[in-house]
Amino acid sequence: MGDEMADDDFDEAVRRMLEQAEHADAPAEPSAEERARAARQADLARRLEEQAEFERQLAHRDRKHERTASRGSRRARWIAPLIVLAMIGAAIWFTTDRGQDAIAGGPEIARPSNWPPVAEDVSTTPLGAPPPAPQATGPYEFIATHDDDSPVTWDPCRPIHYVVNPAGQPEGGQELIEAAIAKASAATGLQFVADGTTDETWEKQRDPYLPDRYGERWAPVLISWSTEQETPPLGGYVAGLGGPASVGLSEDDVTNVSGDIVLDATDISAVLEGPGGAAAAQGIIQHEVGHLVGLDHVADPAQLMNTEGSPTSATDWGAGDLRGLHELGSGTCRPDI
Ligand SMILES: [Zn+2]
Repeated sequence: MGDEMADDDFDEAVRRMLEQAEHADAPAEPSAEERARAARQADLARRLEEQAEFERQLAHRDRKHERTASRGSRRARWIAPLIVLAMIGAAIWFTTDRGQDAIAGGPEIARPSNWPPVAEDVSTTPLGAPPPAPQATGPYEFIATHDDDSPVTWDPCRPIHYVVNPAGQPEGGQELIEAAIAKASAATGLQFVADGTTDETWEKQRDPYLPDRYGERWAPVLISWSTEQETPPLGGYVAGLGGPASVGLSEDDVTNVSGDIVLDATDISAVLEGPGGAAAAQGIIQHEVGHLVGLDHVADPAQLMNTEGSPTSATDWGAGDLRGLHELGSGTCRPDI
């Protein structure tokens, strides 16, 4: 049903843009400014049609994955004109290797043999707390929710470790990443720890536990730069992909433990060269970090989690984003994970 909604929304957006483009051509004596706007809109309409085809291909691919996805998780749809701020569906890793007492909160929690030991930096209390949710309202959506509609979150009692593969990054890329993460941390209370650099590259299905590379702990979040040649899902106007990886002992009991973000160095370099480039580029990365902590897309251009990265759209959290981030920072501590 969500897919149909997203497809309908997308079709509507295409129809509207095409209409606007046609309308812009209508005046008998268009000014230079009007002609330029019409050309931009026609170009956007053309891009939207390209994106629609890309979207249809992806939708087909996503539906195949849906069959093995949990009922409690909603696959993110991405619809995306212009600089596309896309995401990958959250990867959820269940284990069937559970003991008879493996219910959260039970007295004896059997730890699956294919999980790492509990990390040493897990606290008994949250490491931080989100600021109060803003009074102002705005839309927000979660990538995945539990059966009671509460969002799937990270464990607030442990830091989110991340590594960066700096290969191919534009000048200032590391600072943009750090600034985007600081914004997500401030809005959620979640604490991030930089574990340095890596040569690991993005792949579509990344295991959240990579002991050979990172030792006996959940794999740190991988943030990497790439190009559409190296990473075909970055093709067209997709500027980045991001999302968490979750584990759980049952379908309705999952927690984010890892994740990844891949950034299109070509697209983001181009954004950096434009007016307000640094803010716009940071906004793209911050949007992907928003996915990483659990936010899904909304249609409202006042929210950073909107589907479009047009020059006039938000480059920082909106009220809806902040309300969602408040909930995502208020998850339950999971010392068993
Ligand atoms: Zn996105």
